Amino acid sequence: MDQIKIGRFIAECRKLQGYTQAQLAEKLNLTDRAVSKWETGRSLPDSSIMLDLCDILGISVNELLSGEKINVENNNQKNEQLLLEMAKELEKKNKTIWSAMWAIMTVSILALLGGIFATAFFIPEGPWQLVAIIAVVIVFLIPCFYALKLEVSVGAYKCKNCGYEIVPTYKQALNAMHRGTTRYLMCPNCNKRTWCKKVLKK
Ligand SMILES: [Zn+2]
Repeated sequence: MDQIKIGRFIAECRKLQGYTQAQLAEKLNLTDRAVSKWETGRSLPDSSIMLDLCDILGISVNELLSGEKINVENNNQKNEQLLLEMAKELEKKNKTIWSAMWAIMTVSILALLGGIFATAFFIPEGPWQLVAIIAVVIVFLIPCFYALKLEVSVGAYKCKNCGYEIVPTYKQALNAMHRGTTRYLMCPNCNKRTWCKKVLKK
């Protein structure tokens, strides 16, 4: 989606309706900074207020996201184009979350190894060394837990067999085998175990 084009379109429609940025913001219970951010293409309106915004501007969501008025003739074509772009954007978001998770895991494993080495090297053998190692392991578990939480909260897995979206529990996510962006999970809908591909819920 072309944020700059969408921003210009929002500004254009706002002026056509005779509102200032502040007036539009007030109607949506937002700050005028939010409106200015859309209009300069730095962000997109949140999906939760998109309908209200379009209503106020007298345009359709379709038009908003295309950044232009749509006539009936090219409406279908625009629809398809938009759906495709949204799918692409979701895919991109998916990839970002995955790489963030991998980065978290890599850094924490390195930190764990470094921490254990450091305690073994600098703290003389004895009870304190054990305490230090336990502390290092606990600190390591926090990002692991966070990564797992992220995984369970943002994503679902699509059953290869029936297409059902499985939301794994912590236990399932911990136990299921993992390969790239797929996990080997049992589907509660068709009771088959398949390599389910990760999809984002939001
Ligand atoms: Zn299934």
